[in-house]
Amino acid sequence: MADKYDVVVVGAGPGGYVAAIKAAQLGLSTACVEEWLDDDGKIRLGGTCLNVGCIPSKALLDSSQKFVEARDHFALHGIGINKPTMDVAAMQARKQKIVDQLTGGITGLFKHNGVTAVQGRGKVLAGCKVEVTDKDGKVSVLEAGNIVIAAGSEPVPIPPAPVDNDYIVDSTGALEFTEVPGRLGVIGAGVIGLELGSVWARLGSEVVMLEALDELLPMMDAQIAKESGKIFRKQGLDIRLSTRVTGAEVKDGKVEVKFTTADGEHVELFDKLIVSVGRRPRTEDLLATDSGVTLDERGFIYVNDYCATEAPHVYAVGDVVRGPMLAHKGMEEGVMVAERIAGKPAQLNYDCIPSVIYTHPEVAAVGKTEQELKSDGTAYKAGVFPFAASGRALAANDTDGMVKILADAETDRVLGCHIVGPSAADLVQQIVIAMEFGSSSEDLALTVFGHPTLSEAVHEAALAVHGHAIHIA
Ligand code: FAD
Repeated sequence: MADKYDVVVVGAGPGGYVAAIKAAQLGLSTACVEEWLDDDGKIRLGGTCLNVGCIPSKALLDSSQKFVEARDHFALHGIGINKPTMDVAAMQARKQKIVDQLTGGITGLFKHNGVTAVQGRGKVLAGCKVEVTDKDGKVSVLEAGNIVIAAGSEPVPIPPAPVDNDYIVDSTGALEFTEVPGRLGVIGAGVIGLELGSVWARLGSEVVMLEALDELLPMMDAQIAKESGKIFRKQGLDIRLSTRVTGAEVKDGKVEVKFTTADGEHVELFDKLIVSVGRRPRTEDLLATDSGVTLDERGFIYVNDYCATEAPHVYAVGDVVRGPMLAHKGMEEGVMVAERIAGKPAQLNYDCIPSVIYTHPEVAAVGKTEQELKSDGTAYKAGVFPFAASGRALAANDTDGMVKILADAETDRVLGCHIVGPSAADLVQQIVIAMEFGSSSEDLALTVFGHPTLSEAVHEAALAVHGHAIHIA
């Protein structure tokens, strides 16, 4: 007889494992099917985010930034050290230890909450059933009261630069380099390309970013994107826009990359090439033809505002559905779906999802950009405050960037915030909370901020919306 659960989740990334834990916490019998295996052939939880995404990339970003601080900043603080060196193997071992600790932690959370982890590849069948093929090819079927699909995403391959996992790598391979490449090409100057390019540039690679678009970070507020580009270039990232890669071939231990620009065709040699041109939903062999679950025109699983698919009692969350491909977006969708299955009227405010690029300085945003407000025809006021005028940023020798707040011209309600600067990821969260509570920029301006903090830049930007910033002429 088939095993039966109130909820069967397919995929144990942030969308899936959070949905599973929440469902179990709400008293629902829950299984989570995951195909990922570790080197010992055991089920590995955590998905892209914990294994080859958010966490390992941040571990390497933090290590490489500490190296830069030791190399370029310590002397300024009066700290004398010998020339710092980087042991890449030790850096990678530290990264792996963090990944193992966190993925093991999810196993512990499943046990604690009573979630059954099922190893295997899940396929959604008609009638709320999930077929599971385990690592040995054994097939079983789980019966479910409800299904949550959280199969995530995978890197988009491009024909001119096929990944060989040696010289030409995707984001996963770029997290595994065992030595610092002398010359590193990066196809795509998006979030992942900038983060991974920054890691290796900080450690000494000459990094060339080849971006087909004629604009850097078009999804960000244009002023912040322009400022970020200036800062990244000052740090040595050679970002080339309007540059289309037409071929990449490994020859004599180098990657020969062909690309076109307005000047014509070019060929350059690199030691490694990262392909980071985006990610696509992972739906191959996931749905039986009669499952009732449909895809949208871009290949994502079609869902409504509450993550319900077109098949009754089947939901989908995270990267496999529309919206930003961000771990926290998937997690909150997982919570919402579990609560709705348990009969609660949960919903998610998609207007208040922060996004961050974890470069140094960080780039962070929530809500509308200035260009979106212009094209919507919304009358708005903007307040900008540069970190160069922040006492705390100066004390930390970290003065690049600015905070920008956008508010409705009529109601003063905060509509967006865009930051490039130190701790931007944490600072923007203050505005996420403010927006969630429907704050006006005056509410922020009337709030007391501790001194001296980087947060004061948020306060001053809110004051600037009304033309009254204190610490800038
Ligand atoms: P995933 O994390 O992709 O998990 C899906 C899981 O489902 C996987 O474990 C997969 O093995 C499993 N699976 C798929 N199909 C099946 C099947 N048929 N049967 C069984 N199991 C299946 N986001 C952020 O918010 N912040 C960051 O800093 C950040 N950094 C990133 C850095 C990099 C290098 C990358 C690549 C991504 C980063 N992301 C970041 C994005 C983030 O990783 C994803 O948004 C997030 O992992 C999506 O979660 P998910 O649960 O939808 O899917």
